[in-house]
This record gives sequence, structure tokens and C-alpha cells, in this order.
Amino acid sequence: MVDIILINDNLEDVTGEFAMKINDKCVGCGQCAAICKNDAIQVWGKAKITQNCTNCKICSYYCPLNAIEVT
Ligand code: SF4
Ligand code: SF4
Repeated sequence: MVDIILINDNLEDVTGEFAMKINDKCVGCGQCAAICKNDAIQVWGKAKITQNCTNCKICSYYCPLNAIEVT
């Protein structure tokens, strides 16, 4: 079981610098955070992409609900 940590419930990234966006399908399961090698996803209720993201897009393939969009 992945520990789930919420920093911000804003579903979009704060700065707009990232190509990855979390949409409202997210249920906060934490699977995306578990596979991100950059520790760039924080989850507390919903996932949030942080500034550690390198836009590798891998997380988008793992989300079972297609809640991670490449913009
Ligand atoms: S894997 Fe998908 S549904 Fe689960 S926390 Fe990540 S974005 Fe949300
Ligand atoms: S795109 Fe890559 S670096 Fe960014 S949150 Fe997803 S898995 Fe992590």
C-alpha cells in the first residue's frame, strides 16, 4: 500500500510549466506516484504533478482511469 500525501488539491499544476495534467477522473489511488522515478507526484485525495516532473509521460500509461493527460 502506498502512503498517500496531499500537498495541494489543485488538480492542475501550479506553474503551468508541465506537460502533464491530472484531470477530474483521478480517484487518488496513488499508482502513478508509485511508478514515478522522480518522485514528482503527490497524492492526497487527488494526484498533483510537482516541479520534479521531467515530462517523461510514463505515469500516463499507468493510470487505470486515464486521468493523466499529456498537454
Ligand atoms: S493513477 Fe490515476 S487515478 Fe490513481 S492517483 Fe494517479 S492520476 Fe489519480
Ligand atoms: S511525466 Fe514522468 S516525471 Fe513526470 S510525473 Fe509522470 S512519471 Fe513522473
